[in-house]
Amino acid sequence: MPAPLQRVQSSPTLPPAADVVIIGGGVVGSFAAYYLAKRGVSVALVEKGLVGAEQSSRNWGWCRQQNRDERELPLATASLDLWQRFGEDNAEDTGFRRCGLFYLSNDDAELARWSAWRDFARGQGVTTHMLSGDEASARGSATGQRWKGGVFSPSDGTADPSRAVPAVARAIMKTGGTVHEMCAARGLEFEAGRICGVVTEAGTIRTRTVVMAGGAWASSFCRQYGIRFPQASVRSSILSVTAPAQALPDALHTAEVSITRRLDGSYTLAISGKARVDPTPQQLRFAREFVPMFAKRWASLAPGNLTGWRAGHETLATWRLDRPTPMEANRILDPVPDQKQIDETYLRAGRLFAAIRQTQVVAQWAGYIDSTPDGIPVIDAIADRPGFILAAGFSGHGFGIGPGAGHLIADLITGRTPLVDPKHYGFTRFTSGKASRVSDF
Ligand SMILES: Cc1cc2nc3c(=O)[nH]c(=O)nc-3n(C[C@H](O)[C@H](O)[C@H](O)COP(=O)(O)OP(=O)(O)OC[C@H]3O[C@@H](n4cnc5c(N)ncnc54)[C@H](O)[C@@H]3O)c2cc1C
Repeated sequence: MPAPLQRVQSSPTLPPAADVVIIGGGVVGSFAAYYLAKRGVSVALVEKGLVGAEQSSRNWGWCRQQNRDERELPLATASLDLWQRFGEDNAEDTGFRRCGLFYLSNDDAELARWSAWRDFARGQGVTTHMLSGDEASARGSATGQRWKGGVFSPSDGTADPSRAVPAVARAIMKTGGTVHEMCAARGLEFEAGRICGVVTEAGTIRTRTVVMAGGAWASSFCRQYGIRFPQASVRSSILSVTAPAQALPDALHTAEVSITRRLDGSYTLAISGKARVDPTPQQLRFAREFVPMFAKRWASLAPGNLTGWRAGHETLATWRLDRPTPMEANRILDPVPDQKQIDETYLRAGRLFAAIRQTQVVAQWAGYIDSTPDGIPVIDAIADRPGFILAAGFSGHGFGIGPGAGHLIADLITGRTPLVDPKHYGFTRFTSGKASRVSDF
């Protein structure tokens, strides 16, 4: 059974023209469309499958500042406020709650890293509490174990991945924008070097501004226009289980396993960072750039299979706009989960919490996590292609920072003061030859 996801009712007709067309109905594209619609900009969001159906419904739902790279922290902090405000401004529940995130460890080196991050975060105005052995063991008493230490970040939280993007999609439509499911963007049209339209499978929308927020599909789309965007994906497999009989922490990370309570009381179980690297033509193309990233994460990664090659999201093909494209051949990137990892995750969670052993598996799924070589997204206008904005490569962090990313995209388009300084999200860091440091977390 795939990741649970609410359905929405698409807008009835494709508009002939819009100020902005957003390609991709994940959390990033949806929040961008929402903030644009709120500013009175006419916006159409096109999604090749169902809104939220790829990474944005397959994640844990963590919206965290805790352990964020300094380049992403401002966006993470702003996003938490935006998650909250979205709920207040709309009669929609994304499941966002500031439940706090809780980390436990018996590893001195790990505790030292968290402590160093706490010192850095304090200077950024972020509150996070290091827990002594006694405090960690008391807060984590449901594990029945003694712990060396931990962290609790009270202002962080979680949203429900099965509800969040559908809630934003409904809000876009209520605010005057349109949302079109089963509507792949095949490509772009240009006039005197500037974008003048988006060709979709259902017709062309005249526009001068396009946001490519296609998640794992972004690089292959960019390639059609000579834009070299180094991007690679790894396949992560997770599961959800029925509500445990005993109260467990809402969101807990340990090196062995992490658990997250969903809005309906069920729990998502996962092993942090663990994933398979499925070779694809694009992986091979960008292999050199990803060596530092994969080297840093090697202990959690394992070789995969040809699932990714067949899926088509990382194809090197060039396609025509008058024929079905790879995006129509694969409406929802729904890779087969790694059963070994699923079984291992359930086993580890049961070792940590006896109450998990009595739960039933509700669903299990995998998702391709798209990443850049430095683990920081691109949110930037592409200078060589006037009117084209790229927002992808969220590197396993995009759900939590989705509202901030969407707001920033709307700021760039409408010329407002940016929500946060966008300098770290520039595209040219990959073309200037000045490689950016790989994110630690
Ligand atoms: C297992 C797992 C756990 C994770 N845990 C967390 C977490 O706890 N916290 C966190 O912050 N992040 C987490 N992430 C990462 C997070 O889910 C992603 O970074 C985020 O969802 C990316 O959002 P997106 O909108 O960029 O992409 P996506 O959600 O992948 O959306 C892109 C959309 O674009 C559509 N599309 C692509 N090309 C086209 C086209 N040409 N025309 C029309 N539509 C197109 C696709 O169909 C897709 O729906 C996790 C990811 C996974 C897989």
